[in-house]
Amino acid sequence: MSLIVTKFGGTSLATPERVLGVAQRLVDYHQAGHQVVAVVSAMGKSTDDLLRLANSVNPNPPARELDQLMATGEMVSMSIVAMAVEALGVQAVSMTGRQAGIVTTEVFNKAKIAEIQADRILSELASGHIVIVAGFQGITRTGDITTLGRGGSDTTAVALAAGVGADVCEIYTDVDGVYTCDPRMVPAARKLDAISYEEMLELAAAGAGVLQMRSVEFARNYGVVIHCRSAFNDNPGTLVKEASAMEQAIVSGIAFDKSESKVTIRDVPDRVGIAAEVFGAIAAANINIDMIVQNISEGGSTDISFTVPAGELARLRPVLDSAIANLGIREYLVDESIAKISVVGAGMRSNPGVAARMFKTLADNNVNIGMISTSAIRISVVIDGAQIETALAALHTAFGLDSDNLFEETQLSGEELAAKAAKGR
Ligand code: ADP
Ligand code: ASP
Ligand code: MG
Repeated sequence: MSLIVTKFGGTSLATPERVLGVAQRLVDYHQAGHQVVAVVSAMGKSTDDLLRLANSVNPNPPARELDQLMATGEMVSMSIVAMAVEALGVQAVSMTGRQAGIVTTEVFNKAKIAEIQADRILSELASGHIVIVAGFQGITRTGDITTLGRGGSDTTAVALAAGVGADVCEIYTDVDGVYTCDPRMVPAARKLDAISYEEMLELAAAGAGVLQMRSVEFARNYGVVIHCRSAFNDNPGTLVKEASAMEQAIVSGIAFDKSESKVTIRDVPDRVGIAAEVFGAIAAANINIDMIVQNISEGGSTDISFTVPAGELARLRPVLDSAIANLGIREYLVDESIAKISVVGAGMRSNPGVAARMFKTLADNNVNIGMISTSAIRISVVIDGAQIETALAALHTAFGLDSDNLFEETQLSGEELAAKAAKGR
């Protein structure tokens, strides 16, 4: 008997039929003698609907009330899934974040899990129930409902898997696993059988939304192996785990992020402490920025560019306006049509030339690079958002990531493979 923690995303629960499909999977595990916990996300796009609803009555909804509202999405799912399990003849109990003992920090909208008090879950499992937990939500020590940031149900699942000492943590989603790039943007993307925590962390941080970054951090810190797989078939997915036994690919994946804007502050006086003042003011407003580039100074002043989530621009503008007034900065420009592309691979450490190949590939495809940043295993560039598909496809090919579909689709018979090959696809 194993203790299995599963997680199902919104698309996997979008219709009553899919909910029954999820329930059947849980019941199958239960009937095979396993103890089963399922973490569920809000059905379909209902979190987006709730956000729209909030914005329609208040363009700047209070963070606490937003969490009260957003948490309802997962509560619909948990009870519906529990009902579906009961309809299949197995006892189920649904739990909110509070009932499941998920204690978080006090930060609304992006709380972190501080502790899991797993006794209630464990006793329900011991009495033979399938336990359904609302993902994405928790409770502060003072009793307020919090949410964990978009995509946070992944983190609920991994934290619970660590908290209850699960044997397996399965994250079911709407693709077959983690691919070399988002298969919806790069049709040639290839599913990875395994990826290291380190690389998955970089990909998630660079925009690969298939797993929330915090969930990968949790998995690495607590040694939870994640099996990311499809809710719609039984194909093996991708294992996210320690690197040890894996060969280190030079580049294992490419991520992109279209959600950031580029801000350039013009003619910043080139004197000690200016950057500290500008970025100090931004930090004081609790606005996270990403890449920063400062140009060579000319005539005593310089330009500084940085990227920021587009959703933070409204809060950033007044901060920069007062910086301009206080520091004698001439102006700032905002470019909302950028995209960031990141190439990630642990093998970069020992293989020089990745940056050169990346830049040459972009140049050959007429893609101009606006900004560059790197970590030990990642190179990121900012480009014009309109060129994102061209750039992704070219880089995917240049780094040898394109799938050889003929070998991937092992369900096909030899004759079918031959027919496909003949068609030259
Ligand atoms: P869920 O609702 O199950 O949490 P998400 O939409 O959050 O699903 O994540 C799955 C989606 O992540 C996929 O449909 C895919 O478009 C996107 N995605 C982005 N990068 C990748 C990648 N490298 N591999 C697989 N999917 C990716
Ligand atoms: N429902 C939440 C969201 O849409 C959490 C999740 O899906 O993981 O972000
Ligand atoms: Mg998700």
